[in-house]
Amino acid sequence: MAEVVPLVRDAVIVGAGLCGLALAHRLTERGQRVCLLEARERIGGRVLTQDCATTGQPLDLGPSWFWPETEPHMVALLDALGLESVAQHDPGDALWLVDPNRQPERRSEAAGVHAGARRIAGGSAALTEALFKALPEGSVITGSALIGLRDRGDSVELLRSGGPSLRARRVVLALPPRLVQERIAFDPPLHAALDQALKDTPTWMAAQAKAVASFAAPFWRGAGHSGNAFVRHPQAVLGEVFDQSSGTSGALGGFVALDAAQREHFRVGLPLLIESQLAQLYGIEAQSGQIALQDWAQERWTCSEADRAEPPAWPQADPLLRRGHWGGRLWFGGTETATHGAGHMEGALAAAERIARALLAPVSAVSQTGDPAAAVADFATAVQRLRALAGGRYRQQLVRLLSAQQHEQLTQRALLAAVDQTYSEALALLDAFAPWVGPEHAGQGRHALTPALLKAFDGWNKALLDEALAHNGSSCALSNFPQDHRPDAELLRAITRDLAAAWREFALELNARLVGAAAAQEAA
Ligand SMILES: Cc1cc2nc3c(=O)[nH]c(=O)nc-3n(C[C@H](O)[C@H](O)[C@H](O)COP(=O)(O)OP(=O)(O)OC[C@H]3O[C@@H](n4cnc5c(N)ncnc54)[C@H](O)[C@@H]3O)c2cc1C
Repeated sequence: MAEVVPLVRDAVIVGAGLCGLALAHRLTERGQRVCLLEARERIGGRVLTQDCATTGQPLDLGPSWFWPETEPHMVALLDALGLESVAQHDPGDALWLVDPNRQPERRSEAAGVHAGARRIAGGSAALTEALFKALPEGSVITGSALIGLRDRGDSVELLRSGGPSLRARRVVLALPPRLVQERIAFDPPLHAALDQALKDTPTWMAAQAKAVASFAAPFWRGAGHSGNAFVRHPQAVLGEVFDQSSGTSGALGGFVALDAAQREHFRVGLPLLIESQLAQLYGIEAQSGQIALQDWAQERWTCSEADRAEPPAWPQADPLLRRGHWGGRLWFGGTETATHGAGHMEGALAAAERIARALLAPVSAVSQTGDPAAAVADFATAVQRLRALAGGRYRQQLVRLLSAQQHEQLTQRALLAAVDQTYSEALALLDAFAPWVGPEHAGQGRHALTPALLKAFDGWNKALLDEALAHNGSSCALSNFPQDHRPDAELLRAITRDLAAAWREFALELNARLVGAAAAQEAA
């Protein structure tokens, strides 16, 4: 007889990195019973801060920066948790070393190098620790890796290392998609397109290594150096150096320029090579630092085989990864799945937010009343919230495009990105409604609930376009781009056409999902 695994929680979140912790925090705040399953013995994932043994200052060996202008989730969460941040130290000259046999060249970087970046006071792990502390005791199981998932129809069974299986109503995989694809067995197997989407999504920074040298004081500042340096010759050990100091202590951080295989080859001598390059940049004083080094390519729970084998690339996940699967019982998270801020801590929070909305929104209508009309009303309320966010998302996209120097078709691209984010979040909400989609509602390729659900978007394209144009007309940043500052009739027609095409695609997809869910229920 098959072993009966007790139902442990409303949701099990796999991966106690920033995404998993933020999601657990949101869900428990709303009364859900969740459990986090973490392969490592520590929480935080790619967020890793070590205290220096000599100066005591926190050294970030994973992420250190966030950008408040374009990263609203980070700003809001730090604020909610009462965490402080400090500006990245940029004032002073940067050094450029392009020839290993010459002195570095000093260049003034009046506008700064890090585009308004800030660092979390106490190190980035202050954020993951604060989230962890806010969870009920016993919420996190560490040192146990997920190895398989089995869909049981009304719940999901989790097979894991080092302990008996768990069972939950829903499972969220808050880990890099490629690790999911390489390490986790699915029963039934994932369909081919989903498997490929997981495989095609690179893990941000997974094959990188970061070093931080810690000193009693930031001595380079006295000589007018910012601490920023760029080493652009073939023997570079650190390709990019920056100031990571905290309080009165000094620290210089850097990304290692050698690839994973070279790092493995030079493993023992690497700290010495780093010291000697820092000394070439900042003089003999830079040789006295205490070096902390983290090679992420050696980290089994971050770097997949594919990430080690391929050149680094920015993750742009297939929208399939943002949808619920197995009738809304299986979800994919992790920063790589985000539409905004993918790869960054912001993306991890955006992914957590998307999944939290999908898991929480339908609960009232579905589980309490089981009534489709109430769930349609719930969907409409959730869409109102998404509609209200869209103008801000448009403005964020504009800032992102402008700061990335992408000046072509600014308005179109920013609008389509905002619309795409809204539609994919609406579809994620819909997937979670699957339980009340009865077979009686489907007929002739069109689902009876489609018109009622789409009604929530009535007038939205026009309202969003009006809001965008009002913003463009008053934006100083856009005054250098007359086409976007005040678009002419031809451009407006093109934008309207693009928005209409995106809407059609969304409407078809929404209907297809309802019909698919109804068919699956009929078959069951
Ligand atoms: C060197 C470096 C520098 C970076 N710099 C920045 C920066 O300055 N600013 C910025 O915003 N971002 C930066 N990033 C990216 C940032 O770290 C990530 O975006 C963020 O931490 C990702 O969080 P996550 O929760 O999505 O994934 P992860 O942190 O990877 O969390 C996934 C978790 O899942 C666990 N896990 C994996 N497999 C299993 C399994 N089978 N079973 C159970 N648990 C499992 C892992 O142990 C991990 O804890 C940097 C990253 C690195 C490595």
